[in-house]
Amino acid sequence: KKTGSLYPAELEKRYKVSSNVLGVGSFAIVKECMDKTTKESYALKIISKKAIKKGKEDMLTTELDILKKIKHENLVKLHDLYETDEGVYIVTDLARGGELFNQLLLKGSYTEKDAANLVHQMLKGVAYLHENDIVHRDLKPENLLFKDKSDDSILMITDFGLSKILKTNDDILMTACGTPGYVAPEVLSQKGYNKPVDLWSVGVITYTMLCGYPPFYGENQAVLLQSIMAGNYEYDEEDWGEISDDAKDLIDKFLCFDSLKRITAKEALKHKWFTSAADVNILDN
Ligand code: ADP
Ligand code: MG
Repeated sequence: KKTGSLYPAELEKRYKVSSNVLGVGSFAIVKECMDKTTKESYALKIISKKAIKKGKEDMLTTELDILKKIKHENLVKLHDLYETDEGVYIVTDLARGGELFNQLLLKGSYTEKDAANLVHQMLKGVAYLHENDIVHRDLKPENLLFKDKSDDSILMITDFGLSKILKTNDDILMTACGTPGYVAPEVLSQKGYNKPVDLWSVGVITYTMLCGYPPFYGENQAVLLQSIMAGNYEYDEEDWGEISDDAKDLIDKFLCFDSLKRITAKEALKHKWFTSAADVNILDN
């Protein structure tokens, strides 16, 4: 272990780590790696121990072991994990299609059919997480990755469960980093971190996908937070005039200010928008 090798010995025994950096976040660096035996490619997420919340160091492996058991088509699978004094090394599914965030920037907005298909996939992942009592807490387009580069690529949720142990999304009001635009009002008022917060985020994502800009905004963070706490958003006629009432009805149910009355993932999957806006194929799975 003191050989000056970059990675844990156990990890290097099994995987060949590529110099190809897939991305860099605030605390993590993500590289591509390959299982030496199967030749299968994976993503290696390296998280500095500095990113772990104080007092949560001990629960790290417990938490990650739970996440290791999670298996769903729309969730980035956690395959393996290694730990050193400096960091945590997480081997996950490789998403070759990039972030929904970037695709959204490129496209500007989605057709209802495409948006419905993607939101439906998101909801399937969220419903599965919630069935397993895992709250994501940090759903946003940066954490939604396309499995491949094809037009009909599967969408996968990443970073679920991590906000519980990582610093990043904690103390949203205190830290200037990260855009709190996807955060539910009850999080901001420190009243709750339960399942409904994820549906609020899905609502913000759905709204943004359909018109190209978020429902809540502000020229600075304070104004943005006020806007979320006021819970008021609009469907500007110019951008929303041609968008179906079904879409707006579902968004309203996601962005229901009262978290207890907010639609659940399981309920949302049955919403009529998914039948009216989209092809039959999304209902098959
Ligand atoms: P952080 O949580 O510190 O922001 P991320 O997990 O978001 O770090 O990773 C940083 C970047 O790496 C992201 O921009 C994302 O595009 C890329 N990335 C993360 N996970 C994967 C993955 N499984 N496959 C491909 N790229 C990934
Ligand atoms: Mg992330």
